[in-house]
Amino acid sequence: MPRLGVIGWPVAHSRSPAMFRAAFAACAMRDWSYQALPLPEELFAQTVRALGASGFLGANVTIPHKHAALEIADEASGPARAIGAANTLTFGRGGAIEAHNTDAPGLIAALGRSPQKMTALVLGAGGSARAAVWALRDAGAASVSVWNRTPERALELARDLGVEAVAKPLGADLLVNCTSVGLQRSATDAEALNQLEMTADQVGRYAYVIDLVYGDGPTPLLAAAQAHGAVTVGGLEVLVAQGALSFEHWTCRAAPHEAMRHGAGIEGTTD
Ligand code: NAP
Repeated sequence: MPRLGVIGWPVAHSRSPAMFRAAFAACAMRDWSYQALPLPEELFAQTVRALGASGFLGANVTIPHKHAALEIADEASGPARAIGAANTLTFGRGGAIEAHNTDAPGLIAALGRSPQKMTALVLGAGGSARAAVWALRDAGAASVSVWNRTPERALELARDLGVEAVAKPLGADLLVNCTSVGLQRSATDAEALNQLEMTADQVGRYAYVIDLVYGDGPTPLLAAAQAHGAVTVGGLEVLVAQGALSFEHWTCRAAPHEAMRHGAGIEGTTD
């Protein structure tokens, strides 16, 4: 019975188990399983080393372990190394651990078009911002800049990945929110946008807006972008896109995207 899971701390809120179980059901993969694996940081290395021998084929990795997942790997893909984080581990025979990053190609897949010729602004300087900046640069965006609440972290990310750090969120064709703003309910949408140093009108300067944050309903950023007629992509779409790539990596089969979207809780269909 091939076992998979998602390692995080906390991880109980993760929609990945429901999304993968929906995929297995759609593909009649009756003996496959996917479970949440809550692991505090101090238990990460020893437990992950044991997962292969306990029958796990692989695992997704989320906050706060993506950097540790790269560190523990015996082999890692070029993108995972360049980004400095892995979200997909595969446990080989003999205990070898292989690390990949599907967050980066997942972001481009969720955008649904090439960012070539687009100028892009990434908000945030954490793990997901690193993956987004790398993905946009790799996919040929005309320019990529990064803004962060703590400017020193934006400067460090910009230096590492060869992009520009900006002191204020300036206009661009594409805006990608990789901060956690929107995760907690703010008193008003304006207050949430203020944490990103933007007003609702300024959100109208972007034709495409991706928000990695997801919850119930659109985030304040996506609500403002939709009000201005922008093309918007929510965090659940990004989650499904990276999950589909992990599914294909482990199973060597085409991912059942529609079933995964339903499993993740996205209402409506794309076709
Ligand atoms: P992280 O490494 O902890 O980074 C958090 C970022 O948010 C930092 O840049 C931080 O800025 C910024 N931030 C936090 N609170 C803020 C505030 N009140 N005002 C302005 N900026 C604030 O997290 P991450 O892994 O990059 O993830 C970021 C978000 O994306 C999370 O909400 C996560 O759930 C979501 N995510 C979604 C997906 C998906 O598939 N949809 C995938 C990955 C992540 P400072 O440097 O100033 O602290």
